Amino acid sequence: MMFRSTRGIAPAVPVDAALLAGLAPDGGLYLPAGIPVAHAPFVPGQALAATATQWLAPFFEVSALRDALPAICATAFAFDAPLRALRGDGDYLHELFHGPTAAFKDYAARFLAEALARLRPVGAPVNTILVATSGDTGAAVAAAFHRRPGFAVAILYPDGRVSQRQAQGLECWGDNVRAFRVDGDFDDCQRLVKHALGDADLRAAVSLGAANSISLGRLLPQLAFHAHAAHEHQAARGSLLNLVVPTGNLGNASAAWLARRMGAPIGDIVLATNANDTLPRFFAGGAYAPRPGLATLANAMDVGAPSNFERLRSWHDDDAALRAAFRAEAVDDAGIRATIAGAPARHGIVPCPHTATGLHLLERLRAEGDRRDWVVAATAHPAKFDSVVEPLVGHAVALPPALAVMLARPASGQPLARDYPALRAQLLRA
Ligand SMILES: *Cc1c(COP(=O)(O)O)cnc(C)c1O
Repeated sequence: MMFRSTRGIAPAVPVDAALLAGLAPDGGLYLPAGIPVAHAPFVPGQALAATATQWLAPFFEVSALRDALPAICATAFAFDAPLRALRGDGDYLHELFHGPTAAFKDYAARFLAEALARLRPVGAPVNTILVATSGDTGAAVAAAFHRRPGFAVAILYPDGRVSQRQAQGLECWGDNVRAFRVDGDFDDCQRLVKHALGDADLRAAVSLGAANSISLGRLLPQLAFHAHAAHEHQAARGSLLNLVVPTGNLGNASAAWLARRMGAPIGDIVLATNANDTLPRFFAGGAYAPRPGLATLANAMDVGAPSNFERLRSWHDDDAALRAAFRAEAVDDAGIRATIAGAPARHGIVPCPHTATGLHLLERLRAEGDRRDWVVAATAHPAKFDSVVEPLVGHAVALPPALAVMLARPASGQPLARDYPALRAQLLRA
């Protein structure tokens, strides 16, 4: 399996080159040149890591990582993603938040770290992974690369725009991880990272890498947990699993789409966004019109220009075909609050603000009379957003053990001006 660029100018490359490059040299995003059909038999009760190995193997047939794939998946998918039945008949929650930083991004970040560590040439200089984050990606990448020989991490996050516990998750690592609080918003952070990655003089002096959501290594692994849940569900209920995916940069939903195309028993896919409604406007028939991101309660989805849109567009013949593949709806902060407040009685759980956008759409589907089985992807643990969630449900949310470990570590970040020379000087100091 080769990987091509969405822009079609850069030559197709094997998976290892696509993982190492991040972005294609023509500025496009890498995606598989064809979509393989998964033939592996699913045995109910098999480990998530086994499903990941089966479903990712077709992409790694021509790869230095081929024989290591089971070991990579064993580490990346070492924690379960249980499918929990909610109170309503046919309502499910897919808990993707049992990793070290309590968000689904742990799976792909750990996969990428395991893959890059094995692809790194012996004796190569320390590779600094640059990551702009709106809250969860930075922590997942930091945890995955922390104390990993040959790698360092520089996180850029928007000062004052993440929850206190998210900030702790970004600043608590130390050793080979540095966290910069940028005096600006997420778009400023992303712009600074792109500037550094495009600075040839800097890159001659410092070895830089990227781990943002455009990286193929952040996208592909995610198809495993969707395929696994859909198979478990089909074995138990004999029907397709329909998905509601809380969506920002469209990485998780693109992976679900890919799993469906490869043959996973997935039915409809509904995208839940927050008030950043670029995707709902497109899927309702409007033009694709990216906007600056708005700050909302579901901050990891504060994206006005979803980066994986370019991949989805490239996978479809035209916009009409793409529009037929998904439904997308926005949920504003008032809807998020009402859903969190009502969730304990209605669903028997406490959701994080991102998961609440998905539950809100599930409630809408039920109100429309939809009787099919639906699962909402629970993308982060509610305890990470205690300051939003606890006042709404009226009680404290217990900390999962991994989050308690993270919160007990000492934290230190450094302020960074939102101009490029300041970042450049820091990177040269590494
Ligand atoms: C990143 C994130 C999302 C959005 O996922 P995308 O792949 O960017 O669409 C949703 N919820 C949480 C908690 C996240 O961290």
